[in-house]
Amino acid sequence: SFPLLDKIISHSKKSPSSLAIIDTPLSTKITYHELCSDILSLSSILSPLITKPEARVVVLCEKGYLVPLAMLSIWTSGGLSVPLLPSLPLPEQSYMTTNSESSLIVTDGKNKKRAEELLEEIGKEGREAKILEINLNEIRESKDKKDERDVEEVLSGLEQLDGDRRAMMLFTSGTTGRPKGVVTRHSALAAQVQAVAEAWRWGNSDHLLHVLPLNHLHGIVVALLPTLWSGATVELWEKFDGPAIWKRWINDEGQEPITMFFGVPTVYSRLIAAHSTLSPDLQKRATEASSTLRLQVSGSAPLPESVKKTWEQPGGVGGGQILLERYGMTETGIIAGTGWEHEKRVKGHVGFPLLGVEIRLWDEENNKEITKQEVSGEVQVRGPPITKEYWRLPEATIKEFHDGWFKTGDVGVYSSDPLAPGQLRILGRNSTDIIKSGGEKISAVEIERAILELEGMKDCAVVGVDDEEWGQVVSVCLVTTRPEVTIADLRKELRNIIAPYKLPKKLKIYQGEIPRNNMGKVNKKKLVLEAFPPKP
Ligand code: ATP
Ligand code: MG
Repeated sequence: SFPLLDKIISHSKKSPSSLAIIDTPLSTKITYHELCSDILSLSSILSPLITKPEARVVVLCEKGYLVPLAMLSIWTSGGLSVPLLPSLPLPEQSYMTTNSESSLIVTDGKNKKRAEELLEEIGKEGREAKILEINLNEIRESKDKKDERDVEEVLSGLEQLDGDRRAMMLFTSGTTGRPKGVVTRHSALAAQVQAVAEAWRWGNSDHLLHVLPLNHLHGIVVALLPTLWSGATVELWEKFDGPAIWKRWINDEGQEPITMFFGVPTVYSRLIAAHSTLSPDLQKRATEASSTLRLQVSGSAPLPESVKKTWEQPGGVGGGQILLERYGMTETGIIAGTGWEHEKRVKGHVGFPLLGVEIRLWDEENNKEITKQEVSGEVQVRGPPITKEYWRLPEATIKEFHDGWFKTGDVGVYSSDPLAPGQLRILGRNSTDIIKSGGEKISAVEIERAILELEGMKDCAVVGVDDEEWGQVVSVCLVTTRPEVTIADLRKELRNIIAPYKLPKKLKIYQGEIPRNNMGKVNKKKLVLEAFPPKP
């Protein structure tokens, strides 16, 4: 057994008929007892196929109950879960499958063909693997009659796994390069899940509406697993549907009321757009319904002030909800959050460290810790939730996990804002968001925030373009309802908000959208080449 399974067993013993998971695409509701029973059945099928401890097992199933069921059963059988997103293109899945040296692919009917293609790719590398196709009916029919007695007792009797056993491989979002496989061990996974569950005071009466993909930290470690840790309910939706989310919050059909909702910033801006398509009566009720949720969280990328404002201001669409912003990464789980008190959820800030996480800001040039407010340094973290390694990337592991501290590559400051004293503020990624221009260091994230404050600005990404005179110049990719806007206009309007040396010098207007990866993040190395190609 392992900590998360122990929790699930104890919830089932206390309250076997409480709902653990609602699989919306399959219209199936799973109680804690059924979850235990299904884990036991699927692990009996998996165990003979997982012959070595930490054998990598790809999970390639449509979003729904089968994903957590497969992951938990793989752990129960001693394997290492590698959850993949079915909608990713074959080359990306193939990279993750072969890179992880997976020897088994657990899949569903819909993804069987793709699993076979992946098997072929594994074969090309001279390795062997198997496919296990699963569906819920067959798992339940396979159930061993002798386990009927008491599944919780049988599960409780399993040997405790060493906390150092590798549990999961999640790939980073690939914003700065090729996605890296991050290996999380059982003890770190439990620490990450517990940190979030406690920080957000998850209780067994919580009901989380889950619209995130199940292949990244956010969807799995921040949303799905803390629900099961806490004995709460998670309602899995296959995809984002703005109007449907508002209607689910209104809950005219008398389902279990939603108490929690998580999204990346684009989820909230799309919800704002969807809100305006509702009838005036529904708009009012939707806003009221939003106000009844216990918690709404934003993270994975900086939350633009304009979105925050439209959601939160008096009369805003969120109905008085103040979004909790949190900061984290695949390698660390959630590092910091603005926390419980509404008045601490201040724009532009990500709050304080979560349980078990130690943060320091590091001055690379002088090799010393920064303690003063408003002095920027690299965010470094350590503690039980932090992972120890990248998979098969020894150089990156040595470079980024150094003397016990993990180097996040993000730059931050302790804020002197009177509303958020001492809170962490993220200035962006050292590699792409810190623009070095005329000897000054400029945060792209701060300029993006300022631009999105101006009228008619829908989306923007600020990048540094190499320049002979300045080193780099601040340059803007912009989506706006004012297509005639020029760089001179922008500079003029920004002059009241940001210091003169930070004003942008180049502008490229985008029709439609700025290209983003599937976590809604901009690959700025790519964008800068595309938007401002170097002169031949
Ligand atoms: P890769 O490591 O492959 O380049 P990635 O860093 O985008 O991709 P993730 O681990 O999903 O992969 O994302 C972590 C990063 O997301 C952090 O390092 C940080 O730059 C950014 N991030 C997360 N939450 C926030 C937030 N609230 N505000 C600002 N940035 C955030
Ligand atoms: Mg990263």
